[in-house]
Amino acid sequence: MTEKQISKPDKYDDMKDSKKKIILRTYEILFKKYGPQGWWPLTPKGSTESKHHQGRPKTERDRFEVMIGAILTQNTAWKNVEKALSELNKEKLIDPKRMARTDKDVLAELIRSAGYYNQKAERLIMLAQRFKDILRMGREELLSLKGIGPETADSILLYALEKPSFVVDAYTKRIFSRIGLFPKDSSYEEVKTLFENALSEKNHKTELFKEYHALIVEHAKRSCKTRPECENCVLRSICLKEI
Ligand code: SF4
Repeated sequence: MTEKQISKPDKYDDMKDSKKKIILRTYEILFKKYGPQGWWPLTPKGSTESKHHQGRPKTERDRFEVMIGAILTQNTAWKNVEKALSELNKEKLIDPKRMARTDKDVLAELIRSAGYYNQKAERLIMLAQRFKDILRMGREELLSLKGIGPETADSILLYALEKPSFVVDAYTKRIFSRIGLFPKDSSYEEVKTLFENALSEKNHKTELFKEYHALIVEHAKRSCKTRPECENCVLRSICLKEI
Protein backbone atom coordinates (compact mmCIF):
# COMPACT_ATOMS: atom_id res chain seq x y z
CA MET A 1 0.00 0.00 0.00
CA THR A 2 1.41 3.40 -0.90
CA GLU A 3 0.77 6.52 1.10
CA LYS A 4 -1.20 7.98 -1.82
CA GLN A 5 -3.69 5.08 -1.71
CA ILE A 6 -4.88 6.19 1.72
CA SER A 7 -7.37 9.00 1.75
CA LYS A 8 -7.08 11.51 4.56
CA PRO A 9 -9.81 11.00 7.17
CA ASP A 10 -12.84 13.26 7.16
CA LYS A 11 -12.40 15.29 10.30
CA TYR A 12 -13.61 13.23 13.29
CA ASP A 13 -15.89 11.20 11.03
CA ASP A 14 -17.44 7.86 11.86
CA MET A 15 -15.65 6.09 9.03
CA LYS A 16 -14.27 3.27 11.11
CA ASP A 17 -12.51 1.70 8.12
CA SER A 18 -10.76 4.92 7.24
CA LYS A 19 -9.57 5.40 10.83
CA LYS A 20 -8.42 1.80 11.02
CA LYS A 21 -6.40 2.23 7.81
CA ILE A 22 -4.82 5.41 9.12
CA ILE A 23 -3.86 3.70 12.39
CA LEU A 24 -2.36 0.71 10.56
CA ARG A 25 -0.58 2.86 7.98
CA THR A 26 0.82 5.22 10.61
CA TYR A 27 2.42 2.28 12.37
CA GLU A 28 4.00 1.09 9.12
CA ILE A 29 5.36 4.54 8.33
CA LEU A 30 6.76 5.15 11.82
CA PHE A 31 8.30 1.69 12.07
CA LYS A 32 9.96 2.15 8.68
CA LYS A 33 11.30 5.53 9.76
CA TYR A 34 12.50 4.77 13.30
CA GLY A 35 12.83 0.97 13.46
CA PRO A 36 12.29 -1.18 16.57
CA GLN A 37 12.48 0.84 19.79
CA GLY A 38 13.02 -2.01 22.24
CA TRP A 39 10.93 -0.55 25.04
CA TRP A 40 10.72 -0.59 28.07
CA PRO A 41 14.15 0.78 29.10
CA LEU A 42 15.76 -1.53 31.67
CA THR A 43 19.01 -1.54 33.57
CA PRO A 44 21.42 -4.17 32.24
CA LYS A 45 22.96 -6.47 34.86
CA GLY A 46 25.98 -4.93 36.54
CA SER A 47 25.01 -1.39 35.53
CA THR A 48 23.14 1.36 37.36
CA GLU A 49 21.86 3.04 34.22
CA SER A 50 18.46 2.35 32.72
CA LYS A 51 18.91 1.91 28.98
CA HIS A 52 16.68 0.91 26.11
CA HIS A 53 16.70 -2.83 26.07
CA GLN A 54 15.77 -5.12 23.21
CA GLY A 55 13.37 -7.73 24.34
CA ARG A 56 10.96 -8.61 27.09
CA PRO A 57 11.35 -8.28 30.84
CA LYS A 58 12.96 -11.60 31.73
CA THR A 59 12.87 -11.64 35.50
CA GLU A 60 10.64 -10.45 38.31
CA ARG A 61 13.25 -7.80 38.97
CA ASP A 62 12.79 -6.52 35.39
CA ARG A 63 9.03 -6.40 35.89
CA PHE A 64 9.46 -4.52 39.15
CA GLU A 65 11.78 -2.02 37.47
CA VAL A 66 9.15 -1.36 34.76
CA MET A 67 6.51 -0.77 37.46
CA ILE A 68 8.79 1.64 39.30
CA GLY A 69 9.47 3.52 36.05
CA ALA A 70 5.73 3.71 35.30
CA ILE A 71 5.15 5.44 38.66
CA LEU A 72 8.22 7.68 38.49
CA THR A 73 7.44 8.94 34.98
CA GLN A 74 4.10 10.43 36.07
CA ASN A 75 4.26 14.16 35.27
CA THR A 76 7.95 14.19 34.45
CA ALA A 77 10.38 13.51 31.60
CA TRP A 78 12.18 10.16 31.36
CA LYS A 79 15.62 11.73 31.87
CA ASN A 80 14.54 12.65 35.43
CA VAL A 81 13.32 9.10 35.98
CA GLU A 82 16.69 7.71 34.83
CA LYS A 83 18.49 9.62 37.58
CA ALA A 84 16.06 8.31 40.21
CA LEU A 85 16.39 4.73 38.92
CA SER A 86 20.15 5.04 39.00
CA GLU A 87 20.00 6.09 42.69
CA LEU A 88 17.67 3.19 43.48
CA ASN A 89 19.99 0.81 41.66
CA LYS A 90 23.02 2.02 43.61
CA GLU A 91 21.14 1.21 46.85
CA LYS A 92 19.99 -2.16 45.43
CA LEU A 93 16.39 -1.11 45.87
CA ILE A 94 15.03 -2.49 42.60
CA ASP A 95 13.92 -5.34 44.78
CA PRO A 96 10.37 -5.45 46.16
CA LYS A 97 11.35 -6.96 49.53
CA ARG A 98 14.10 -4.41 50.18
CA MET A 99 12.01 -1.50 48.95
CA ALA A 100 9.01 -2.51 51.08
CA ARG A 101 11.26 -2.24 54.17
CA THR A 102 12.74 1.14 53.20
CA ASP A 103 11.84 4.27 55.12
CA LYS A 104 9.58 6.54 53.06
CA ASP A 105 11.70 9.66 53.64
CA VAL A 106 14.89 7.85 52.59
CA LEU A 107 13.18 6.63 49.43
CA ALA A 108 11.77 10.09 48.69
CA GLU A 109 15.28 11.55 48.86
CA LEU A 110 16.62 8.94 46.41
CA ILE A 111 13.90 9.68 43.84
CA ARG A 112 13.89 13.46 44.31
CA SER A 113 14.88 14.05 40.62
CA ALA A 114 11.55 12.58 39.45
CA GLY A 115 9.46 15.25 41.22
CA TYR A 116 6.44 14.74 43.53
CA TYR A 117 8.88 12.57 45.44
CA ASN A 118 6.94 12.21 48.71
CA GLN A 119 3.83 11.08 46.89
CA LYS A 120 5.79 8.80 44.54
CA ALA A 121 7.73 7.26 47.45
CA GLU A 122 4.43 6.29 49.07
CA ARG A 123 3.24 4.75 45.81
CA LEU A 124 6.48 2.82 45.35
CA ILE A 125 6.26 1.34 48.83
CA MET A 126 2.67 0.25 48.12
CA LEU A 127 3.85 -1.26 44.81
CA ALA A 128 6.64 -3.13 46.59
CA GLN A 129 4.31 -4.43 49.33
CA ARG A 130 1.72 -5.62 46.78
CA PHE A 131 4.20 -6.75 44.12
CA LYS A 132 3.21 -10.45 44.07
CA ASP A 133 -0.50 -9.56 43.90
CA ILE A 134 0.11 -6.99 41.16
CA LEU A 135 1.75 -9.64 38.99
CA ARG A 136 -1.68 -11.32 38.80
CA MET A 137 -3.86 -8.21 38.59
CA GLY A 138 -6.11 -7.15 35.73
CA ARG A 139 -6.80 -3.57 34.66
CA GLU A 140 -9.71 -2.88 37.00
CA GLU A 141 -7.78 -4.07 40.04
CA LEU A 142 -4.76 -1.99 39.08
CA LEU A 143 -6.96 1.08 38.63
CA SER A 144 -8.35 0.59 42.13
CA LEU A 145 -4.88 1.08 43.66
CA LYS A 146 -4.03 4.53 45.01
CA GLY A 147 -2.05 6.62 42.56
CA ILE A 148 -2.51 4.28 39.59
CA GLY A 149 -4.37 6.02 36.76
CA PRO A 150 -5.16 4.63 33.29
CA GLU A 151 -1.78 5.47 31.69
CA THR A 152 0.20 3.97 34.59
CA ALA A 153 -2.05 0.89 34.72
CA ASP A 154 -1.74 0.28 30.98
CA SER A 155 2.05 0.80 31.07
CA ILE A 156 2.31 -1.79 33.85
CA LEU A 157 -0.01 -4.21 32.04
CA LEU A 158 1.74 -3.87 28.69
CA TYR A 159 5.41 -3.56 29.59
CA ALA A 160 5.67 -5.31 32.98
CA LEU A 161 2.94 -7.96 32.78
CA GLU A 162 2.97 -8.30 28.97
CA LYS A 163 -0.77 -8.09 28.49
CA PRO A 164 -2.15 -6.43 25.33
CA SER A 165 -3.40 -3.16 26.78
CA PHE A 166 -2.78 -0.11 24.57
CA VAL A 167 -1.12 2.84 26.35
CA VAL A 168 -2.42 6.32 25.56
CA ASP A 169 -0.42 9.37 26.54
CA ALA A 170 -0.33 13.08 25.76
CA TYR A 171 1.82 12.35 22.68
CA THR A 172 -0.77 9.90 21.30
CA LYS A 173 -3.49 12.50 21.68
CA ARG A 174 -1.32 15.25 20.20
CA ILE A 175 -0.26 13.38 17.06
CA PHE A 176 -3.54 11.70 16.23
CA SER A 177 -5.77 14.69 16.95
CA ARG A 178 -3.57 16.67 14.57
CA ILE A 179 -3.83 13.89 11.99
CA GLY A 180 -7.61 14.18 12.39
CA LEU A 181 -8.60 10.87 13.98
CA PHE A 182 -10.37 12.39 16.98
CA PRO A 183 -10.94 15.74 18.70
CA LYS A 184 -8.23 16.97 21.07
CA ASP A 185 -10.49 16.58 24.09
CA SER A 186 -11.29 12.88 23.47
CA SER A 187 -11.16 10.81 26.62
CA TYR A 188 -8.42 8.31 27.46
CA GLU A 189 -10.82 5.39 27.10
CA GLU A 190 -12.16 6.59 23.72
CA VAL A 191 -8.68 6.78 22.25
CA LYS A 192 -7.61 3.45 23.77
CA THR A 193 -10.71 1.71 22.39
CA LEU A 194 -10.17 3.23 18.94
CA PHE A 195 -6.62 1.84 18.74
CA GLU A 196 -7.43 -1.54 20.25
CA ASN A 197 -10.35 -2.04 17.84
CA ALA A 198 -8.28 -0.99 14.83
CA LEU A 199 -5.52 -3.44 15.76
CA SER A 200 -7.82 -6.22 17.00
CA GLU A 201 -7.20 -8.57 14.07
CA LYS A 202 -3.43 -8.35 14.29
CA ASN A 203 -1.28 -11.15 15.66
CA HIS A 204 1.23 -10.63 18.46
CA LYS A 205 -0.75 -7.70 19.84
CA THR A 206 1.37 -7.28 22.94
CA GLU A 207 4.53 -6.75 20.89
CA LEU A 208 2.65 -4.52 18.45
CA PHE A 209 1.20 -2.33 21.21
CA LYS A 210 4.61 -2.03 22.88
CA GLU A 211 6.27 -0.97 19.66
CA TYR A 212 3.47 1.36 18.56
CA HIS A 213 3.48 3.35 21.80
CA ALA A 214 7.26 3.68 21.71
CA LEU A 215 7.15 4.87 18.08
CA ILE A 216 4.51 7.47 18.94
CA VAL A 217 6.77 8.84 21.69
CA GLU A 218 9.72 8.95 19.30
CA HIS A 219 7.74 10.78 16.62
CA ALA A 220 6.38 13.31 19.09
CA LYS A 221 9.91 14.08 20.24
CA ARG A 222 11.42 14.28 16.75
CA SER A 223 8.70 15.94 14.63
CA CYS A 224 5.26 16.33 16.16
CA LYS A 225 6.51 18.57 18.96
CA THR A 226 4.49 21.20 20.81
CA ARG A 227 5.29 23.33 17.77
CA PRO A 228 5.14 20.68 15.05
CA GLU A 229 7.90 20.47 12.48
CA CYS A 230 5.71 19.37 9.60
CA GLU A 231 8.06 20.15 6.75
CA ASN A 232 9.97 16.90 6.91
CA CYS A 233 7.39 14.80 8.75
CA VAL A 234 6.84 11.30 7.40
CA LEU A 235 3.12 11.53 8.24
CA ARG A 236 2.48 14.63 6.13
CA SER A 237 0.59 12.74 3.44
CA ILE A 238 -2.05 11.51 5.90
CA CYS A 239 -2.17 14.45 8.32
CA LEU A 240 -5.12 16.86 8.28
CA LYS A 241 -3.00 19.61 9.77
CA GLU A 242 -1.10 19.64 6.49
CA ILE A 243 -4.13 20.03 4.21
S1 SF4 B 1 2.50 16.67 9.66
FE1 SF4 B 1 2.92 18.01 11.42
S2 SF4 B 1 1.11 17.91 12.74
FE2 SF4 B 1 1.00 16.18 11.28
S3 SF4 B 1 1.96 14.47 12.38
FE3 SF4 B 1 3.56 15.45 11.20
S4 SF4 B 1 4.53 16.95 12.59
FE4 SF4 B 1 2.54 16.34 13.47
